[in-house]
Amino acid sequence: MKVIKIDKNKWTKGLDTARESYQLFGPVKIKENHCFAPLKRDQQPDMTVVDTVLSPKSTVFPQTEKLMTATLDTSKPNHHLMERADTDYSPRAVIGIRPFDARAIDLVKLNFDTKDHRDPYWCDAHDATTFVGLAVNTPSQFDFSTSMDSGPFDEKGLDVLLVDMDTGYLAKILTPKGEAFMACAGFNREATAGDLQKMEELKKAAEQAITTQVETDNLREKSLLDLHQAPFWDDVAFSCINCGTCTFVCPTCWCFDIQDETKGNNTTRFRNWDSCMSPLFTLHGSGHNPRGEKTQRVRQRFMHKLKYFLDKYDQGTMCVGCGRCVKSCPVNIDIREVCNVMNAYEPQK
Ligand code: SF4
Ligand code: SF4
Repeated sequence: MKVIKIDKNKWTKGLDTARESYQLFGPVKIKENHCFAPLKRDQQPDMTVVDTVLSPKSTVFPQTEKLMTATLDTSKPNHHLMERADTDYSPRAVIGIRPFDARAIDLVKLNFDTKDHRDPYWCDAHDATTFVGLAVNTPSQFDFSTSMDSGPFDEKGLDVLLVDMDTGYLAKILTPKGEAFMACAGFNREATAGDLQKMEELKKAAEQAITTQVETDNLREKSLLDLHQAPFWDDVAFSCINCGTCTFVCPTCWCFDIQDETKGNNTTRFRNWDSCMSPLFTLHGSGHNPRGEKTQRVRQRFMHKLKYFLDKYDQGTMCVGCGRCVKSCPVNIDIREVCNVMNAYEPQK
């Protein structure tokens, strides 16, 4: 595996060269908080921020996405026919995505890119994207990624893993896409054996700095029905105000809603992020709501992340331990505690 060394004083020039061929996304400050957004011509990604408020899932799954358009103008031969919206899928690169977030996109891929169905919007965006990750040298107090099959130097889902070495970056090239990006940016100086050793030391120190341990080892063998009917869900849900924050900040939440909007003769079909924490999300046209109660919705969120997904795909939990929901929940509902309770649950016989 090739590892490239990049001096920080050459970093900006390299990114500027890459901009000729890629649309760049990266962490930037918007008002009070950091989020991933397309970088303007003269804008640099902020490589210091560890946990942006919203995850970079929007780079392949926008919060609002135009899917289809149609004209209602009956003088046009294609009137009332929905056609795929004209979206730009030219090459793009997400700079500074953290390993747990890249791992999350890899997990979400299991849902949007199956052998029976490929979501064309998600897949085209994903295919066009090169993920240039940045290892987490100093994990936040909310990070529990090492318990959730990820970690501060996790490489899954990444094309390049950058490691901040203070005066420069080491870039571990993981895929042909990553190699093409690095070549395009003009980064080609090979790292030395000493650099690689230092990188391993940073990795070990970062992993050891995560002290929160969440237990997941029993989840697979637990009975789905036992967990579903467990008595602890009322307690877990008691303080929830169904604000939906946990789902919007989560890098693995993928629920969406589809809306058609018409202005004059132009109709557009949009897809918008939605949330299983909202009662409207499951409200049927008949008025029936299979998850009309708060406890049912809270249970759904945790069961999906920690049991249904695990059982269906056998690729670990649908939580990567980024800690965003823990940090953002206004009433301190903590998935680490819920996961431990689920993992330890034994039904009364
Ligand atoms: S952030 Fe907390 S209060 Fe809001 S929906 Fe999620 S669990 Fe409930
Ligand atoms: S459930 Fe919470 S900790 Fe897990 S990936 Fe989502 S936001 Fe991060």
